[in-house]
Amino acid sequence: MDSMKYHRRSFIKQNSLAGLGAGLGLSLTDKNWYLNIRRDVNIPALLGGRPIRDHGWPDWPIWNPETDEKLLLEVMRSGVWSRSKIVALFEQKWAEMSGAKRCLAVVNGTNALNTSLAQLDVGWGDEVIVSPYSFIASVSCIMFNGAIPIFVDVDPATFQIDPAKIEAKISSNTKAILPVHILGLPCDMDPIMQVAKKHDLVVIEDACQAWLAEYNGQKVGTFGDAGCFSFQNSKHLPMGEGGAIVSDDDDFMDRCFSYHNYGNPYGAMVGSVSEGAVMVGTKLRITEYQAAIGLAQMERLDKQTEMRNQHAKYLASEIADLPGISPYRLYDKVDRAAFHLFPFRYQSEVFKGLSRDKFVQALSAEGIPCSSGYKPLNKMPYLKNAFESNNFKKFYSTERLNFEEYMQRNHCPLSDKLCYDEAVWIPQYVLLGTTEDLDYVGIAIEKIQRNAEKLK
Ligand SMILES: *Cc1c(COP(=O)(O)O)cnc(C)c1O
Repeated sequence: MDSMKYHRRSFIKQNSLAGLGAGLGLSLTDKNWYLNIRRDVNIPALLGGRPIRDHGWPDWPIWNPETDEKLLLEVMRSGVWSRSKIVALFEQKWAEMSGAKRCLAVVNGTNALNTSLAQLDVGWGDEVIVSPYSFIASVSCIMFNGAIPIFVDVDPATFQIDPAKIEAKISSNTKAILPVHILGLPCDMDPIMQVAKKHDLVVIEDACQAWLAEYNGQKVGTFGDAGCFSFQNSKHLPMGEGGAIVSDDDDFMDRCFSYHNYGNPYGAMVGSVSEGAVMVGTKLRITEYQAAIGLAQMERLDKQTEMRNQHAKYLASEIADLPGISPYRLYDKVDRAAFHLFPFRYQSEVFKGLSRDKFVQALSAEGIPCSSGYKPLNKMPYLKNAFESNNFKKFYSTERLNFEEYMQRNHCPLSDKLCYDEAVWIPQYVLLGTTEDLDYVGIAIEKIQRNAEKLK
């Protein structure tokens, strides 16, 4: 991947253009020439101009019939489609890859979280610390089990929960911390684990976007009592729908297994099958053909992760100099991220007041896949709905269900700013192309900057 950058640098040198343009070292017209785009850079695509990029991006998910179909066909032809050996093999391999002792595959990441909280005894009466900057399942698992989420604001530079703000939110009801490695960038796990230890809290990691990410030489998902993963179609190990729980705790994993299989006896959940269920469970098993798809995807995950890291670094360095654009920051101890998204912060003042949402529209129109990302989880109507439900009223005192007070306590202004004004995401598959593909991103941003006034 470095050849392109080298190429461009030598091009710059040869053509003595080094000092000419801001940011990428070339002026917009020079870069157009260089990438052979030949576009009028004064008409934004949103206003009818030709987009900077009019050919596609790498496809997702990836499926290669030659390498990927053998096991899947064997499974289909065997007629053994319900959970059996192939699921067990997938679990064994995912445990190995993610650096955990055990793994249990379940129907999706949402239920990996639901199950983990239930089997770590997090439920009615408890509070769970979580970031408001995440996917809904990071919080619904808390309320699904009857507990109340307590939101801790983010560090906007990293997009992750701010560890320095956790302790102030701990009360006598706090039972757990749920760090989400959101966008696939690892949380700052050392200070999080320190606070958890000090207050004797359970830690459930939502690693549903962070396959193979590493912090301080250790894979994320293995720091807490449980780590949860998603294998949904857009995720980096896609199998349509799927999820997993990993942990080193045999008792906990046995309970999760039992729970995911109607509460039937398993391992330490002793009993004889003839007597039936030993606990209240449900059914969350994945199929053999999902596992066969997952095993095929696993083969390319490490290499892709490496590429996403290299390309994220390249793209970050290419756009970091553009005024008003601040790429993500990783914590010092992060060895590797998963980069489910490539995030940066946008400053509309520097773009003549062009709003973030309009910027995202304009960038998409230039042919760069992007979005504005999450809305704050601490402000959605589901919270009030739960607080007003009969079950919550039965269990919680009126003081604890004082919604206005709850909202005050859970105000997270920095997350709000990310959600409403600043965050821009580029999807992971953009990082699986070439560095030349990535050069279009910076050029498109510069084109928008040049035309900001017209776009407003
Ligand atoms: C995808 C995701 C989940 C839920 O996983 P599903 O497999 O879609 O149920 C949970 N948390 C985060 C952060 C996710 O990105």
